[in-house]
Amino acid sequence: MMKGFTGTILVYLSFLISQINKNFAQEFSYEGSMGPNHWGEWYHQCVGKHQSPINIVEHDVEIVELPKLRFVNFDLKIEEVELHNNGHTVVLLIRHGPLPIILGGPLTGKYQFAQLHFHWGQNDAEGSENRINNGSFPMELHVVFFKASYGSFKEATEHPDGLTVLSFLYSTSRQSNPTYDKFVQMLPMVEKPKSSTIITNFPTFDDLTLTDRDAYFTYGGSLTTPPCSEVVTWIEFKKTIPLSHNQIQYFRQLNDHNGKLLHNFRPVQPLYGRTIRLSISPEWNTLFSDVEKNNKATPRNDGMGIKIRNFSIYKIAVFAVFVIISRIVS
Ligand SMILES: [Zn+2]
Repeated sequence: MMKGFTGTILVYLSFLISQINKNFAQEFSYEGSMGPNHWGEWYHQCVGKHQSPINIVEHDVEIVELPKLRFVNFDLKIEEVELHNNGHTVVLLIRHGPLPIILGGPLTGKYQFAQLHFHWGQNDAEGSENRINNGSFPMELHVVFFKASYGSFKEATEHPDGLTVLSFLYSTSRQSNPTYDKFVQMLPMVEKPKSSTIITNFPTFDDLTLTDRDAYFTYGGSLTTPPCSEVVTWIEFKKTIPLSHNQIQYFRQLNDHNGKLLHNFRPVQPLYGRTIRLSISPEWNTLFSDVEKNNKATPRNDGMGIKIRNFSIYKIAVFAVFVIISRIVS
């Protein structure tokens, strides 16, 4: 009898220890002994060679023209979304409504919306995860999708092409961005860690990502939080979304378990020889933007896009056609 009792206690204790270990293993932080420098001790992929975020150096990118990215259901209002403070960020999930889908660009197949979330810092000089030319932005939006053919987000994380993240950088503007007003005013409802709220008639994804989406950087990388799975095709838009300082302040009012959540971005990771591509659209404004061609970039033959081999000649030819047409018209 006593033997049976002791056995039950031992089983219960080992269950408790396993639960504590599990909870411990799932926790991480952005500072101290659980900070990014230690993630690799629990999650071996966090010290892999295809990690995110990265610093994108525009001089070193390969300019390509990929098939057009297609944003399906981005124009439809979402009936019901759940906003959740998970102690690391605020996450938005769709409860009822059309699921946004993304395809085209560097992607093979259809990718279905899983969740979106944000990264920010304690002031407007930092907060983004990815950087451009070593410059930080005050905030970054990650819209996470999984490859629909894998059936679920979990299954997709087991495959190198399982996920894609549409990443948008924010810039501070004097005026507030009206399409974000309703959203940021909801954030105090999830001020406490592990709290959730429901929002009905949420703005469209087109409203949330209102910027020029023609030019974007793309590279193979990872989740930027543990377990840092190297299964993400990153699509980082070149143009920023404007938000006022006061709108960004709403995010800084959220709490984690230690107080105000003021720092939830991972430092940039080494490239280890990865190629970053800049996809441009053949529109006038993109052609005459400040992008520069990298002469050292080696042409890729991956069948995913048309490599523009001599960008300068191409520019001159387009400009000449423009001059001829404008003379005919006048
Ligand atoms: Zn993220």
